[in-house]
Amino acid sequence: MSELTELYDQVRVCTKCDLSKGRTNAVPGEGPEDAQVMFIGEAPGFHEDREGRPFVGAAGKYLDELLALIEMKREQVYICNVIKCRPPQNRDPLPEEMDACRPYLDRQIESIKPKVVITISRFAMGRWFPGKKIGEIHGTPKKFGDLVVLPMYHPAAALHQPSLKRVLEEDFKRVPQILKEMANLQEEPAEKKTPPPEQLSMF
Ligand code: URA
Ligand code: SF4
Repeated sequence: MSELTELYDQVRVCTKCDLSKGRTNAVPGEGPEDAQVMFIGEAPGFHEDREGRPFVGAAGKYLDELLALIEMKREQVYICNVIKCRPPQNRDPLPEEMDACRPYLDRQIESIKPKVVITISRFAMGRWFPGKKIGEIHGTPKKFGDLVVLPMYHPAAALHQPSLKRVLEEDFKRVPQILKEMANLQEEPAEKKTPPPEQLSMF
C-alpha cells in the first residue's frame, strides 16, 4: 500500500474533529502520486461530500476548463483541500478544525513533493502567505525552498463575480512558463546557476 493510499484510508474514517459527524464522505484528494502541480482548495461542498471526490461541482467544472486553457488535464494534477470533510452549510472552517486536519495536508505535500502548489482558497493561501490579501498577490509565484507557491482566486469566486474570470484565466496562463523556468533552473550546471534578471523577476 502506498503512503497516500494509507492516508486516504485514515482520512475516510477520521474522527479528529466534529466535521466527521456531518459528512457523507470524507474527501482526501486525488491525482498522480508524483504530480508536478498541486491545487489546494478550501473544503468539500455538497457534491464533493456526496461523491468523496474534490472539485466535482460547478467550481470543479470550471477548474477543468481552466486546465484545458493551458493544455492540462485533471488527471495530470493533484487536487485536494485544506479541510477533508464538508463543514455544515459550507461555512468557513474553524481554527480547531484546521489544526486537526493539517497533518493530512502536510503528509500529502511531503509525499507528492509537487514543484508548484497553486492555492485556490484563502485558507490554503494563509499557510504560505499569512496576513496577505488575494487581490494583492494573486498570480505572483513565490519560492519556498524547492517549492513554488502560486496563489490564485477560487474558481467559485470567479463564477460568482464574472469580472474575476479574466484575472483567473490570465493567472492560469502563467503556469506553463513557471514550470518551464523551474525545469530550466534545475537542468543548468552549477556554475551557470544564476539566472538572468528577467528570470529572477518571476519569483
Ligand atoms: N470548493 C473547494 O474549495 N473545494 C472543493 O473540493 C470544492 C469546492
Ligand atoms: Fe478528520 Fe479532517 Fe475530517 Fe476533521 S475534517 S474529521 S480532521 S479528516
